[in-house]
Amino acid sequence: MDQTVRGDGSAPACFICGGQQFERLLSVRIPRDPDREHWIERCQSCDAVRSRPLLSDEELGALYTTQYYGPPKRRSVTLIEKLRVMAMRNRARMLTRIARAHLPASSGRPRVLDIGCGRGNLLVGLNQEGWDCWGLERPEFVDPSATAYKLLLSPQEVEALEDGSFDLVVMWHSLEHMSDPAATVALATRLLKPGGLLTIAVPNFDSTQRRWFGRHWFAMSVPVHRQHLSRRPLERLLTPHYDVLRFSTMALEQGTFIFAHSVVNALTDSHEPNPLYERLSLRQPGSAGMLSLVLQGVALLAALPVGFVESLVSGWLDRGTVLTLVAQKRRES
Ligand SMILES: [Zn+2]
Repeated sequence: MDQTVRGDGSAPACFICGGQQFERLLSVRIPRDPDREHWIERCQSCDAVRSRPLLSDEELGALYTTQYYGPPKRRSVTLIEKLRVMAMRNRARMLTRIARAHLPASSGRPRVLDIGCGRGNLLVGLNQEGWDCWGLERPEFVDPSATAYKLLLSPQEVEALEDGSFDLVVMWHSLEHMSDPAATVALATRLLKPGGLLTIAVPNFDSTQRRWFGRHWFAMSVPVHRQHLSRRPLERLLTPHYDVLRFSTMALEQGTFIFAHSVVNALTDSHEPNPLYERLSLRQPGSAGMLSLVLQGVALLAALPVGFVESLVSGWLDRGTVLTLVAQKRRES
């Protein structure tokens, strides 16, 4: 399966280091796109992994006709959505504590930009913590009734933002969706004040779970995830302008969830999303029968405690499923 693909001008250079040599890791079957081969490949210079072919927003939109975030207002069944909102509020409080410890003193409300803010749960929490909140998202994914933050919906609106006008930039599970992650980080660098903070969360391609589950790893999400990052390429991306203050792969809640759905993916030989996830997310009901869904539910519940322990241990070993970091823009940058 492994093979080296030599840069011959037909493939774009590595988005992170400009490298031309790629190793193909695995191919993935996409039921929605049966006529085309999808694969992931690793840059031999910097370890960054990316999906190929790299689909445009329009191509992805055509494949995923239901909204990626589920129906408006209700992203998932109510209890799960409530837990998600609670987790985001906790995250907002934690980010505020980190910011107070590291941001240079300034008068007025600190300003935050969430790149890929989705339905804005994190921004609602940050707004309650006293932040002046801004969110960047594609128009089809946003909550248009949001009042806790200002929405930026077009590249023109982003270009109009002043250099050095933000204290904090958040990329919470958004960098893996970008076609050019270096350009997204460069945007954050332009918008951050000197000494400002950048926080990133991405699925960790170096994780134990990814090694165990391979193509069934729930967080792989080819082709929706265009990038598959790990510590080394991320640090390469940040080193020119940032000092990394915190780095962790301890993510108990997300790690447990991803583990359990990876088990269901493996049992049903599906790629994300599996039929049960589709049903729980109130996306398209799909064609799975009720008995099959019940069995998948039993497997999911049985896998949760195992996933919790796995997430705890691999988090300790820096092999956890989600990589989060906080970096500070150098004052001379
Ligand atoms: Zn590279």
